[in-house]
Amino acid sequence: MKKRETFLPYGHQSITEKDIQAVVETLRSPYLTQGPKIEEFEKSVAHYVGAKYAVAFSNGTAALHGACYAAGIVEGDEVITSPITFVATSNAVLYCGGTPVFADIDEQTYNIDPNEILNKITTKTKAIIPIDFTGQPVDLNKIMGIANEHNLVVIEDGAHSFGATYKGKKVGSQAHMTMFSFHPVKPITTGEGGIITTNSEEYYVKLRSFRSHGIGKTPYSAEQGEWYYEMMDLGYNYRMTDIQATLGLSQMNRIDRFIERRREIAKLYNEKLAGIPAITIPEQLTGTESGWHLYSIQINSSLLSKPRKEIFEEMRALNIGVHVHYIPVYWHPYYQELGYEKGICPKAEKWYDHALTLPIFPEMTDEDVVDVVNALKKLIS
Ligand SMILES: *Cc1c(COP(=O)(O)O)cnc(C)c1O
Repeated sequence: MKKRETFLPYGHQSITEKDIQAVVETLRSPYLTQGPKIEEFEKSVAHYVGAKYAVAFSNGTAALHGACYAAGIVEGDEVITSPITFVATSNAVLYCGGTPVFADIDEQTYNIDPNEILNKITTKTKAIIPIDFTGQPVDLNKIMGIANEHNLVVIEDGAHSFGATYKGKKVGSQAHMTMFSFHPVKPITTGEGGIITTNSEEYYVKLRSFRSHGIGKTPYSAEQGEWYYEMMDLGYNYRMTDIQATLGLSQMNRIDRFIERRREIAKLYNEKLAGIPAITIPEQLTGTESGWHLYSIQINSSLLSKPRKEIFEEMRALNIGVHVHYIPVYWHPYYQELGYEKGICPKAEKWYDHALTLPIFPEMTDEDVVDVVNALKKLIS
């Protein structure tokens, strides 16, 4: 097998001259931050997902922190989430003093299992943060049903699922709050950036305040004068800049094409990798259409003479940027120090042992897909 001339990453942004021109225009404008582009971008995202409000943040992690604050998570509260995610998800709970509680995954979809959520609910449970892992929406109807019954807030981590649909509706309007990330590998990018979409005016007001130091105008301000504002709560500076928002707005023009191309690549992988016993291709929940942020396979190493690590290293040696997403969050030393024990989500841990992420991003060509498939087939034969 010949090594590829150029490295094929697992994910990559797509930037055009138009994106660059748009950003340059903003750089020449009066506002680099706190200007009109932020709200324009927020409106564009809210409209796209069909939500009433959107609040942009400096990054997705800050947005999740804001959502946890708006949900009222404080010390003593438990928040149920999946261990198969980026550490930022449960870290946001810790920022607020809350306790992340990990519920195991469904073996077919790799997403949090609603039945496992039920098993973890206590009198201290305040919220659920499900993750649309790889871009495949979680079973929202079931999760919202559980939440309504137990009076819990649902913050959907949609970092992977911008553009995905659940039962014909775009992700971003069905949970109480939904977070999207605009890191360069994500469905659209603003460099760094994140957003919360919601239909709740109450959350909208809290998120706006939290993003900007907890300050705002009050009835008392009007009495005092034009310059007067008040700080009502301890917020942060988590603002997105107009430079970021401009790039985001320009990227929004191509979101449908990005998602379409990701779906084409996933379809090609599915066709070419189907029926190989040593590989399990990702299964999709009925009624969902993934945004395919990641294409994650299972390497059934019991059928092979080599472990996943060897396949990973051999693929990398061929210049193919395979990856592994994610290490179960509670395995990290920081979480171990907090007292989480290994073995609490056995299905997630077993899944992790076999997981391999294959490259997928809009500018990947069909030839690139064939390269990946041929290399993989050769290495497992
Ligand atoms: C990327 C990501 C985040 C964090 O987003 P940033 O914009 O990088 O801060 C949170 N959750 C998941 C699942 C992610 O993939």
